[in-house]
Amino acid sequence: MSNYKFETLALHAGRAEDSQKSLGIPVHRTAAYLFDNTTHAANLFGLKELGNIYTRLMNPTQDALEQRIAALEGGAAAVALSSGTSGNFYTAINICKQGDEIVSSKNLYGGTFTMFNDILPSYGINTTFVDINNDAELEGAITENTKMIFTEIIGNPTLDVANLKSISAIAKKHGLPVVVDSTFTTPLLIKPLEHGADIVVHSLTKWIGGHGVGVGGIVVDSGKFNWNQPKFTQFVEPEKSYGGMRFGVDLPPGLIEVAFALRLRLVPLRNLGAAISPDNAWIFLQGIETLALRMERHCENALKVAEYLEASDKVDWVRYPGLKSDPSYAVASEQFENGFGSVVVFGIKGGSDAGADFINSLELFSHVANVGDVKSLAIHPASTTHSQLTPEQQNNAGISPELVRLSVGIENITDIIADIEKALA
Ligand code: PLP
Repeated sequence: MSNYKFETLALHAGRAEDSQKSLGIPVHRTAAYLFDNTTHAANLFGLKELGNIYTRLMNPTQDALEQRIAALEGGAAAVALSSGTSGNFYTAINICKQGDEIVSSKNLYGGTFTMFNDILPSYGINTTFVDINNDAELEGAITENTKMIFTEIIGNPTLDVANLKSISAIAKKHGLPVVVDSTFTTPLLIKPLEHGADIVVHSLTKWIGGHGVGVGGIVVDSGKFNWNQPKFTQFVEPEKSYGGMRFGVDLPPGLIEVAFALRLRLVPLRNLGAAISPDNAWIFLQGIETLALRMERHCENALKVAEYLEASDKVDWVRYPGLKSDPSYAVASEQFENGFGSVVVFGIKGGSDAGADFINSLELFSHVANVGDVKSLAIHPASTTHSQLTPEQQNNAGISPELVRLSVGIENITDIIADIEKALA
């Protein structure tokens, strides 16, 4: 499949022939799988043979989704999970344990910020938040305990674009993996593994699913990072929960390359259980089939909305990486292939009250805490998605009271602009 282009892989990668010869990928609704005999069962548990055991660990529908996304990202393996949140969480704890540190961009989705700032520290994993494109600040935050560098490719919600080339150069110098949450771009706009990232995480809930009807996440392993280094204790020391296996050392060729994905499946997923349901895996497979077409229209519409807002006298400022005036335009143009995404944020004149009035006056846009739906969505982050942050943390993350976030859908652009124009008026 590897010679096929994106649109072809989106339709065909991961599709295995089944006994009924169905063209559509079946939903395998089962919790458990029959073993042929006790030797077969022991071989599966001992990784001597790969195969289905129990749907929390793997399932053919989930497997098709994992293979398809791995193909689209150019990765070696992927693990699908119950949400994008569990994707970021399992990635962090697959690499870090008590006493370890993360260096992360400060410009993050609120839930991820809370995970790194409030939840993980109570288990002894601390994060230093930095301006991820400030090389000196990033490098200065790395200590001997740092085990990973984390960034969103387009930070949510201020839309600063991370410069993966310089981030990965610094990471390489220090022998650290770069983890990129690429939810806002999907592999159509950028494949972070081609820009030096080692692990990619997506919330499938957003553009990849595309229709706002399922929650899921996925973690993609480049298969290129060397985990067999003394500082990655979880890969070089015997894993108590898996028969003393040293995932970065003991696996045979063919599996050792995907030690990260395999450990994520066999340690966090197996024992903490954030499995994706076969039905949701199927929903995301359907979404992927039209991803390229949808993203093209999303990006086209979002650019027109950003240009409209930039010209409006009711708007103080606009951020969209596809606007030539945007501070991220240069780095985005250098890295992105097919557009700049579908999220536009702007500061409305009149501050927080005007922002609330604007949202209440929209008719076509839906007021929801989500992005990446084919339908246009709007929200006021300071009072919703990022409300758990203190005013100082909000300010630090670039979330001002007047900031309104639009996730531009694929409706006719005339209707989208008319709704915005009416609400601004
Ligand atoms: N990453 C980003 C960039 C997000 O915007 C979100 C949710 O909005 C998540 C991760 C979490 O994804 P999920 O809602 O699927 O857990």
